[in-house]
Amino acid sequence: MKIGVLGAGQLARMIALAGYPLGVEFIVLDPSPDACSMQLCEHLLGNYDDQQLLAELAERADVVTYEFENVPALVAEFLADHTTVHPDPRALAVAQDRLVEKNFLRELGIPTPPYAAVDSLEELRQVMTEIGWPAILKSRTQGYDGKGQSVLKSSGDLEAAWTLLQGVPAIVEGFVTFDREISIIAARNVSGDSVFYPVSQNLHRGGILRVSECREHDPMQALAENYISKLIEALDYVGVLALELFEVDGGLMANEFAPRVHNSGHWTIEGSETSQFENHVRAILDLPLGSTKPVGHAAMVNFIGGLPQTEELLAIPFSHVHLYAKAPRMGRKVAHVTIRAETTEQLHQNVARLVALADSVDDS
Ligand code: AMP
Repeated sequence: MKIGVLGAGQLARMIALAGYPLGVEFIVLDPSPDACSMQLCEHLLGNYDDQQLLAELAERADVVTYEFENVPALVAEFLADHTTVHPDPRALAVAQDRLVEKNFLRELGIPTPPYAAVDSLEELRQVMTEIGWPAILKSRTQGYDGKGQSVLKSSGDLEAAWTLLQGVPAIVEGFVTFDREISIIAARNVSGDSVFYPVSQNLHRGGILRVSECREHDPMQALAENYISKLIEALDYVGVLALELFEVDGGLMANEFAPRVHNSGHWTIEGSETSQFENHVRAILDLPLGSTKPVGHAAMVNFIGGLPQTEELLAIPFSHVHLYAKAPRMGRKVAHVTIRAETTEQLHQNVARLVALADSVDDS
């Protein structure tokens, strides 16, 4: 069996690392000549809309998947006309436009922050009377890790925030003063069986994920599962799906979903019986899904923009280092470390050590 992946970054790399023990081969398509899956996978070098390369990928892969959601819809549809594609291009189409995504969530009865579409500065001024302050202005498409976003604190911020967007279609959302950010990851295979991971509790800095902790028996688990199940069913979803949520006053609001393996699930590599990457491979090949039971207490810390010495990371007990083979650059995720522990106290102590190391090299 051969899986084709659109994108050859660290997510594709970790999917491949999980698939090889199952005898699966990989071929990746990416425009970057130094993409970090290259060491592991056969690499088709070129743009995502290069029809010749897409045809080759479709021809040579038994099933095609993606490591990011901003794949042009036409590309996903072209591939789907030529081979099996999971998840379905429709999931991408919904996830890559924040307005379509929020409307979709609402129609399913999944609460979201208040939001409105904005196409001009005038419209932004008008809708702010309904949304209220503070708020966040976001580009509708191509945004991730807080990119293309501005916080609006007063009417004096509107013009500069709008100018920053350079006229692209936008959405404005009420700024949620959440108690916690959590996410839930589910996997569903072609036969329709699904599994859910324990929710992750997430800490962001500057819009980028910093720490995720596995929360077994979290009081929000049942509600989070209920919401992600609605999405899975509505999209007839196959593969791994992640839903990011804000906890507010004992309830949950959806921020966004990602139709792919997700950074907040990286702890599953060592912290779960079966990782999200392996379950993605199993799901799209219609294999039985693996148990999502946690293995002890687990958390993950991201390294962004820079890396300490590997020795320093390995010196922390029960740490598992994942270097992505990417040159450090400002704001770029270059590695993560999973930490396991027998008690939550021990986990939090070692997470704090890792965060201190991450802070010492972070250039943002
Ligand atoms: P996003 O790119 O939409 O996932 O946003 C990145 C991060 O910005 C989120 O994980 C939150 O920490 C923060 N954020 C995004 N939208 C909101 C919101 N409406 N209210 C409060 N914080 C937000």
